[in-house]
Amino acid sequence: TGTMRSLRSISAETLVSHPQVAQQSLDGVAHNLYPLLFKASYLLEQAEVIRVLLEHWPLEEFRLSALLGPRSEPPEDLRDRTCRACLEACVQGLADHVLRAGGPQRLRVADLTGVRDVQVQQCPCGRALGRWGRTELLARTCCQLQAESLVAQRPIRVLADLFVTEGNFEVVVQALGPAGPAPLRVHCLSFRADSLSPSQLLQVLRLAGPGELRRLEVVHNVRLHAGHVQQLLAQVGFPQLASLTLPAKAFDAPPTSTPASDGEDPLLTSIAWELSQMSQLTELCVAFSTLTGKIPELLGPLRTPLRTLDLANCSLNHADMAFLADCSHTTHLEVLDLSGHSLFHLFPSTFFRLLSRAAQTLRVLTMEECSIEDSHVNMLVLALSPCHKLCELRFLGNPLSARALRRLFVALCELPKLQCVEFPVPKDCYPEGTAYPQDELAMSKFDQQKYDVIAEDLRALLHRAGRCDIQVCTPLFGSFDPDIQETSNELGAFLLRAFKAALENFSRALEQME
Ligand SMILES: [Zn+2]
Repeated sequence: TGTMRSLRSISAETLVSHPQVAQQSLDGVAHNLYPLLFKASYLLEQAEVIRVLLEHWPLEEFRLSALLGPRSEPPEDLRDRTCRACLEACVQGLADHVLRAGGPQRLRVADLTGVRDVQVQQCPCGRALGRWGRTELLARTCCQLQAESLVAQRPIRVLADLFVTEGNFEVVVQALGPAGPAPLRVHCLSFRADSLSPSQLLQVLRLAGPGELRRLEVVHNVRLHAGHVQQLLAQVGFPQLASLTLPAKAFDAPPTSTPASDGEDPLLTSIAWELSQMSQLTELCVAFSTLTGKIPELLGPLRTPLRTLDLANCSLNHADMAFLADCSHTTHLEVLDLSGHSLFHLFPSTFFRLLSRAAQTLRVLTMEECSIEDSHVNMLVLALSPCHKLCELRFLGNPLSARALRRLFVALCELPKLQCVEFPVPKDCYPEGTAYPQDELAMSKFDQQKYDVIAEDLRALLHRAGRCDIQVCTPLFGSFDPDIQETSNELGAFLLRAFKAALENFSRALEQME
């Protein structure tokens, strides 16, 4: 790897490569060498040694991301290795630590957060344990320990990022809410929910300790309406929340409610008030919710400036865009997604003002399916030119020709921080008269050879300008999502069940008609 290895690292790696010797010599090892041996074991995937190290862990804290990070020896950054064997060994070792009869137990905090889920595992076994799997493993371990009759001792605080679906809901609920004293107390810093009913979500969040929660993502197959969201925020309460993601249609009115005649929306008012009580909130992602005309009321009362705002496909109108362009959040925005809005057709000057006010901070801009055409490229170039901090630009699904892309790419070379560009398949590669926005089938039917030539030409343009550092691509069916990857089977089954239920209702209705 080209990294200089210290004698300490080399010795540690040699020792842990002989698990039997390592285990026998642990008694004589100074306490401050445990972190070194742990990282060496993780690097070499010596699961047995990891487990024994955790069992005997002599320090008060075990913090996974700090132990695996680049500032500790050996020098590799191992935080993007979610090696199944190693992580299972960590959690089993933690259980052994609790079960170790009689020995002094020093460990007070085990922080399992801060590892990254990536597409390709660099570890020897190459098998990952994703966030969902880590959640289940930890929950199962907690439940097993609850079943042991242990001598009452101070519980270990376990900090974790949880990902809960119907598939692990029961075991997580049992792990979080033990009737009696539990040797491991899970403290949840970030929580992702998918494929749960609204009442299951409320139940598990109450147990997860919402007071400490920093990040809440409720996605895909959790069907919330505005009544649920209001209930969630008002009844559960998240004083420390910094980041909130809600699923599609989360601002729709409850099915039984009757719309107020005066245009007032008490649920929206209440949701906005609850959000305004969060003193740390800087990220709000509410894509695919209908928010036409509601943005001023939703974002106006917020106490803290937002740094991340995802309003993709929210059917924004002029009033919403005008508010966005002028509000105090805009000069702090780092990540902005306005996909699915005809920005240049409907709001050319407002969008221009929005970008010019966000230019000092904006790092990531997404404008997919925004009906950006060749005639808009000059304006787009002008709007992007002051965005000197921009690192990532995504604009898939726009009807742009190869010529317009070339013009745009020349301008992109001038953005010093730019690293990643996702550009659409040029219009020229589709049959004449293709309609936008495209469905997946239409999108996939393009002239691949023509595309390859144009993409190569665009890359060559960047290279000539000395910008080999900019990665360009066209991920037609989305980028890698580790959470979806891990739960796709369950998601598929969930959708199939929903479809089956819909069919059953349909045939029942048909029978009644007959
Ligand atoms: Zn591995």
